[in-house]
Amino acid sequence: MTKFYDIVVVGGGPGGYVAALHAAELGKKTALIEADFLGGTCLNRGCIPSKTYLKHSEVIEQIEKAKDWGIETGSLTFSFSKIKKRKDDVIQRLRGGIAFLLKQGKIDVYNGYGSVLPGGVVKVKTAVGEESVQAAKVIVATGSTPAVPPISGLDTVQFDTSDTIFDIKEIPKSVIIIGGGVIGVEFATIFASLKAQVSIVEAADRIIPTEDAEASKFLTKMLKKKGINIHTGAKVLRVQETEGLKTVICEDAKGQELTLQADTLLVSTGRRPNLSAVTELHLEQNGPFIKVNDKMETSQTNVYAVGDVIGGWQLAHAASAEGVVAANNAAGGIDQIDYKVMPRCIYTLPEIASVGLSEAEAKKQGMEVLVEKFDFAGSGKALSAGEPEGFTKIIYEAKYGEIIGVVMAGSHVTEMISEASAFMYLEGTIEEASKMIHPHPTISETFYEAAVNAVNKIRTDRAIQSAV
Ligand SMILES: Cc1cc2nc3c(=O)[nH]c(=O)nc-3n(C[C@H](O)[C@H](O)[C@H](O)COP(=O)(O)OP(=O)(O)OC[C@H]3O[C@@H](n4cnc5c(N)ncnc54)[C@H](O)[C@@H]3O)c2cc1C
Repeated sequence: MTKFYDIVVVGGGPGGYVAALHAAELGKKTALIEADFLGGTCLNRGCIPSKTYLKHSEVIEQIEKAKDWGIETGSLTFSFSKIKKRKDDVIQRLRGGIAFLLKQGKIDVYNGYGSVLPGGVVKVKTAVGEESVQAAKVIVATGSTPAVPPISGLDTVQFDTSDTIFDIKEIPKSVIIIGGGVIGVEFATIFASLKAQVSIVEAADRIIPTEDAEASKFLTKMLKKKGINIHTGAKVLRVQETEGLKTVICEDAKGQELTLQADTLLVSTGRRPNLSAVTELHLEQNGPFIKVNDKMETSQTNVYAVGDVIGGWQLAHAASAEGVVAANNAAGGIDQIDYKVMPRCIYTLPEIASVGLSEAEAKKQGMEVLVEKFDFAGSGKALSAGEPEGFTKIIYEAKYGEIIGVVMAGSHVTEMISEASAFMYLEGTIEEASKMIHPHPTISETFYEAAVNAVNKIRTDRAIQSAV
């Protein structure tokens, strides 16, 4: 007999499982269909494994730094199998946590491949056969997959993407990373700390091209200090492989041919949406992604879509926020997504974190803005931690001082950006930030110090203006 659900969610990543949990909290009979492991890309092949490896990188860097501080530990050796096991243990534990929450929410979980048909019928192909469920509303949260560009010769070469690189057997001696975006620079940090020779090839004129230009310059300098080769403005012409050695031939920024060789090739050039679950629905698209409005409604009544499959931010917390909005609307409420405060974090060593508009974006929108920057070199905590590189930059609107964007670069900034987000969420001003007491010594004081400096400058400017 066909089972009936108020809401069926297809895809168990941070968009889908959060939507399902929320729908169940709202009292709706809910099912979640996941073809692979609960937690999606984020938990199994994305955020969590990369951050687990990056913690290893941080410890390695700390041990190396300790030598200069008079703490000797002997020579450093790595057990990649133990590093991988810790990563797998973390994933396993979090997967269990999601399964527990779904069970607690009385959500039926189908481990199978879902296909959404017109009329709310969802077919589920499992290991043992096929069944159909009937849904009043469907939330599509099928996520994305690494996009592999049509590079000449790539089909003849063994290469990795972020889907496969976490489970390589040994630490590579050398790695070429095609793509210097967020994912590429995080892997560069991981492999450099494990003593692989790392080269990044990026087509844009700078790495992390979607982030603040100054943050990109800062990160370039810090990655180069680790010995990572960075080739920007470089176009990959072709790749080839001889006895396991991969050769990447590029045209560099000056139009010269550049040849790079390594035993491992990682292609990290963006992601494409997983659409095969909804081919029968002929949903309207926004480029390659499913088109939605701010209620997460697709072009088909009673079908919602959230997360990487709709494009946009392609971040786990964005997917979850969209999942909550979709669940609210599918449950009969009225809710809209608000992307104004969307923190973006890059977990390299040191890190980059930002929220709101960059100075360039604000100016492009015709806003009159002022910018204040405070360097970590002036932070007692950063100096005592031996991490004096970095800055906090506040972008605020000139008339009322409302904070409209913050960029942070340096150690621990991914943990600090939420203060800036809270200010922006509550429409806080630079003056209010300059009055909020911060604990001393902390690196978070750099946010306060930048605000104090900005307010002092405003006062000085006003005093000068009233004197003339
Ligand atoms: C290496 C890497 C690092 C990242 N780090 C971060 C980070 O630090 N912070 C951050 O915010 N974001 C990060 N991301 C991005 C983040 O992982 C994604 O934005 C997020 O996972 C998107 O969630 P989602 O629910 O939309 O899709 P996904 O997490 O991709 O989940 C979709 C799920 O749907 C399932 N599915 C697909 N089709 C079907 C079907 N027909 N039937 C049933 N199930 C189906 C898939 O198996 C998958 O489990 C990272 C990504 C990568 C690759």
